[in-house]
Amino acid sequence: MIQVFSKQPQIGTTIFTIMSKLATDVGALNLAQGFPSFDCSPQLIDLVNFHLKKGHNQYAPMAGVPALKEAIAEKTSSLYKVSYNPENEVTVVSGATEALYAAITAVVCPQDEVILFEPAYDSYAPSVELNGGIPIYITLEPPNYQINWDLVKQKISAKTKLIILNTPHNPTGKILTINDLNQLAAIVKDTNIFIISDEVYEHITFDGRQHLSLMQHPSLQERTFICGSFGKTFHITGWKIGYCLAPKELSVEFRKAHQWITFATSTPLQYALADFLKEPSYYLALPEFYQKKRDKFLVCLQNSGFSYLPAEGSFFQTVSYSDISDENDYELAVRLTTEIGVAAIPVSVFYHQKNDYKILRFCFAKDDEILEKAGERLSRLFSKSF
Ligand code: PMP
Ligand code: GLN
Repeated sequence: MIQVFSKQPQIGTTIFTIMSKLATDVGALNLAQGFPSFDCSPQLIDLVNFHLKKGHNQYAPMAGVPALKEAIAEKTSSLYKVSYNPENEVTVVSGATEALYAAITAVVCPQDEVILFEPAYDSYAPSVELNGGIPIYITLEPPNYQINWDLVKQKISAKTKLIILNTPHNPTGKILTINDLNQLAAIVKDTNIFIISDEVYEHITFDGRQHLSLMQHPSLQERTFICGSFGKTFHITGWKIGYCLAPKELSVEFRKAHQWITFATSTPLQYALADFLKEPSYYLALPEFYQKKRDKFLVCLQNSGFSYLPAEGSFFQTVSYSDISDENDYELAVRLTTEIGVAAIPVSVFYHQKNDYKILRFCFAKDDEILEKAGERLSRLFSKSF
């Protein structure tokens, strides 16, 4: 019988898969995995149909359909005043997960060190390790999850190849400030350290805050792979389509990895998005749309006993129950799903040592009725059990 030696012995199934399955099995409201409960624009569906019927059904060019690369470059330049050449600095990929993996694969060699901030999106560390890299963790703590840049400086070594950042941040909803970017720029100046900036929630920011892209800082732009996703922006997480923006020399290496991972991304979807991107009002409406959702959810949480700082961005709200209960966050998330009927993500899963700060993450990209129902159920949680 063949013996299998796991390349990832510590890795199980992702928390999103586990919690979504549990939610489905017990019929709970799924506020765990990050996806909207509502559909995308009907115009977008019409555009896909149009391009399917037009015969856009064979392989797209490896780096993306020119019309979509151009539309992404135009949107980027109009929003952030930074120009990327669609020809050789914009690459369309099959979701931000691929963008992250391809960028990591493009630069990380065995024994290279990669600085990660925890809580970290679950794909970062395994993608580094599959490339032989060594994650160097910097722990951010609730409630502010502030980055201590002096600590970052101390963790930099001759082996540091890459720093991975995420703003707006999943799961904390925090947004990096100009002060963060300046401190980062001072640290990487005169080094050969690359940066990946995961900006999939770029359009979801609240209370008048602006998303600050790393591309807007010239000394960071030259070394940064910006990873984006249409999944969050157009309510199409199931389409798995995203992109990477990076200076030419970086994009050359990025594309070398991309061509062996997926080679190209779905052709009709690319054409449809190229057309749809011409109308900025869809994505420009997102801050207001999601702020209403966040505020609605916060009102729904009023009787829950949870404490929280309102999310600054993303479609996630973290809540603390440390004042009320000692229960382990993973166990509480499971119990919440099975007994109360609301699924959440325990934030300890985003720390490599499973730090349990008694924090849960809820996704509020849901119809108002679902948020209201979740609020009613959550108000019973602590009165029932503690
Ligand atoms: N980065 C972050 C921070 C995410 O939350 C997600 C998933 N929502 C991704 C990357 C992956 O995006 P995609 O679904 O486009 O692969
Ligand atoms: N990004 C989504 C989340 O954080 C889930 C993506 C996935 O299931 N891999 O919930």
